[in-house]
Amino acid sequence: SARYNSNTSGVRERTLIAVKPDGVHRRLIGQIIQRFEMRGFQLVGLKMLRVSEELLSQHYTSLCKKPFYPSLLHYMTSGPVVAMVWEGHNVVRSSRMLVGDTNPTQALPGTIRGDFSVHISRNVIHASDSVEVAQKEIALWFQSSELIEWECCDHDNLYEF
Ligand code: UDP
Repeated sequence: SARYNSNTSGVRERTLIAVKPDGVHRRLIGQIIQRFEMRGFQLVGLKMLRVSEELLSQHYTSLCKKPFYPSLLHYMTSGPVVAMVWEGHNVVRSSRMLVGDTNPTQALPGTIRGDFSVHISRNVIHASDSVEVAQKEIALWFQSSELIEWECCDHDNLYEF
């Protein structure tokens, strides 16, 4: 019925995913990318970088007064990060579900944090938590020239529109 097949909003939604330094050191980049690919999402940007304190302070603006903020900065600058932009229907919400709860103690088995981490201070991955935040984070982490528009060859097997 129309209820199920006419909603094209959010098809080209995008989200920022970052494999944090612990995830890179633990060689989890490939497994993390595989989970997003398996689900049917499309990679439109990818780079390895060392994040500056300046970028992090803009990325984590809402957390800068928290007691854990200095250790979060230390953690996030302790090694390289792999930043990605993934695209697809409802990708922001779906990614948060793939990633699991912020606190690995609460993260379900089958989620990235639930399978690969034990403590909130080393939770392996970042995922934007709303469409608005995703747009802001993507603009902060990527230049528009680093984002690639392309159509996946199996698009029609994932979407009707
Ligand atoms: N964090 C932490 N201790 C806390 C809460 C958060 O070290 O008590 C870190 C953790 O790495 C988390 C990040 O700060 O992923 C950002 O926190 P947020 O609440 O935004 O969670 P997220 O969106 O990453 O799930």
